[in-house]
Amino acid sequence: MSHPQRHADWQQMAADRQFETRAFINDAFVEAASGDTFETINPATGKCLARVASCDAPDAELAVGHARAAFASGEWSRLAPGRRKKILLVLADLMETHRHELALLDTLDMGKPIASSLGDVQGAIGCFRYHAESIDKLFGEVAPTGDDSLALVLREPLGVVASIVPWNFPLMMTAWKVAPALAAGNSVILKPSEKSPLSALRLAELARKAGIPSGVFQVLPGFGHTVGKALALSMGVDCLSFTGSTQVGKQLMQYAGQSNLKKVYLECGGKSPNLVFADCKDLDKVARNAAEAIFHNQGEVCIAGSRLLVENSIREAFVEKVLAAAETMQPGDPLDPESFMGAMVDETQYRRVLDFIRQGVEEGASLRAGGEALKGDGWFIPPTVFDGVTPQMVIGREEIFGPVLAIFGFDTEEEAIAMANDSDYGLAAGFWSQDIDRIMRVTRRLHSGQVFVNNWAGGDQTVPFGGVKQSGNGRDKSHHSLEEYSELKTVWMSLTP
Ligand code: NAD
Repeated sequence: MSHPQRHADWQQMAADRQFETRAFINDAFVEAASGDTFETINPATGKCLARVASCDAPDAELAVGHARAAFASGEWSRLAPGRRKKILLVLADLMETHRHELALLDTLDMGKPIASSLGDVQGAIGCFRYHAESIDKLFGEVAPTGDDSLALVLREPLGVVASIVPWNFPLMMTAWKVAPALAAGNSVILKPSEKSPLSALRLAELARKAGIPSGVFQVLPGFGHTVGKALALSMGVDCLSFTGSTQVGKQLMQYAGQSNLKKVYLECGGKSPNLVFADCKDLDKVARNAAEAIFHNQGEVCIAGSRLLVENSIREAFVEKVLAAAETMQPGDPLDPESFMGAMVDETQYRRVLDFIRQGVEEGASLRAGGEALKGDGWFIPPTVFDGVTPQMVIGREEIFGPVLAIFGFDTEEEAIAMANDSDYGLAAGFWSQDIDRIMRVTRRLHSGQVFVNNWAGGDQTVPFGGVKQSGNGRDKSHHSLEEYSELKTVWMSLTP
C-alpha cells in the first residue's frame, strides 16, 4: 500500500508488514553473538510483534572495533563535507519514500497515533536535511595574531559516538542525535530503546542503501543494562549522546568517569510548568493548548506541560474549559488517523502511571477527569486531570510520563515564578499573557532550557532543544548540536618574518 489514508489501509499495511529484527554491525544484519532475542510488543494489543536480537558486551565490542576502523580509514571522517552532505540528502530522500512504513513501525512498536508518527517522520527527515545542508557551510576560525604567526581553530569530528535513545519519539530522537553526528564526520553506534527498536533497524537498511560506508552507522538493539552499559563503559567510544531519564543520565556520567572520560551529552526528564495569567487572551484557545500540552503522545513527552499553574481569579472557569478540551482527546486505536491519543508504551509504564494516579487521590488532590484505565486489550489510560495540587504532592513534583495533568492555583506573578522554578528539572516552561512588561520579566526569570510565550512546544530545526538542572546538559537541533559532535583543534604556526 503506497499511500495509506484510512484506518483500514493502515490495518492492512500492519498485517502485511515484515520486520528486520537483527542487529546491524559493520555492513550486515546479524544475530546477537549470544543468539539471544527479546520480544517487542504492540501496546495497543498486548501481543508480541517480533523477537529482536538482544545485543550485549561482545556485540558492542565488535561494533566499536568496526566504528574505530571506519573512522581511521577516513572514508567518511575525512570525506569533504559537501560529499557527506550529498549522501545524507539521499538518505533523507529514502526516508521520505518510505515515510509511511517508518511511521507504521513507530506506531506498532510504541502505541502512538499514526498521525503523530507521520509528523515525527517528517521531523526526522527535516533534521537529516538540515544537518546535511549545514555541514558544508560551517567555517573554522583564523585568530587575530601578529605578523609572525598564523593561528587557526579547526573543527574536527570526535571519533566514535554512541547514541542511546528512548522510546517516546523513536525515529525523531534518533535523527536529532544521528544526523548531526554523522554530518560532522563521526562513526555512530545507535542503541534504540528495547521498547521500540524497529524503526532504527529500518533506518540502518536505508543508510546502507544511501551509501553510508561500512562501520560508519551501526545499530545495536538490546537492553540498557547490557549493551547500553557496555557502550557507555567502552574505551573506544569518544562521546555518549543520550536522551532518556535523569536516573540513567546520572549513571552514564559515572560510566564515563570509570572509563575514558568520554564526553556525555544528556537530554533528560522534565516536569514543565505552564502558567496561565488572568490577562491572557482567548481562554478557550489557551485551555485547548494546555490540554494538548499534556495529552499529546499520551503524555509521554519530555516537555509535556504537566504542571498547569492558573491565576486563582480565573481558575474555576478555566479548569472547566480544560476539562471540556480533555474530553475530546480520548485514546483510540493508534492505527486510526482520527485518534488523538494511543496506548501507553507497555504494561510497566501503564502500571507506573496508574500508581501515580492512586497516589494523587491518596494525597488529597481533586480528581476531575479520567483516573481509570480503559477496559479491553492493550494499555490505554484516558486524559486524567487533578485540580488543587500542591508542590508538596508527589504528582506535583515527579515526572509521570503519562496523560496526567496537575493543576495548581496562584495569586501573584512572584508566586507563580517561584512555583514554576521549584523543581529539580528545567527542560521547558511556558506562559500565557498579553502584558509585554510581564512577558519580558517572566521570560527572564523562568529557569529553563526553553520558554514558550503564548504557545506550547513551538520550535523548529533552527533552534536548540535541551534543558538545565537535572533535565540535562545537551542541546539537540540547530548549529549548536553540531558543536557537540566536533572538537576544536588549535593550530599555531610560527612564520619567518
Ligand atoms: P530510560 O532512561 O529508561 O532509557 C533511555 C535509554 O537508555 C534506553 O535506550 C535504555 O535502554 C537505555 N539505558 C537504560 N539503562 C541504561 C544503562 N544502565 N546504561 C546505558 N543505557 C541504559 O528512559 P525511557 O523510559 O526510554 O524514556 C523516557 C525518559 O526520556 C523520560 O524521562 C523523558 O523525559 C526522557 N526524554 C527526554 C527528552 C529530552 O529531549 N530531554 C526527550 C525524550 C525523552
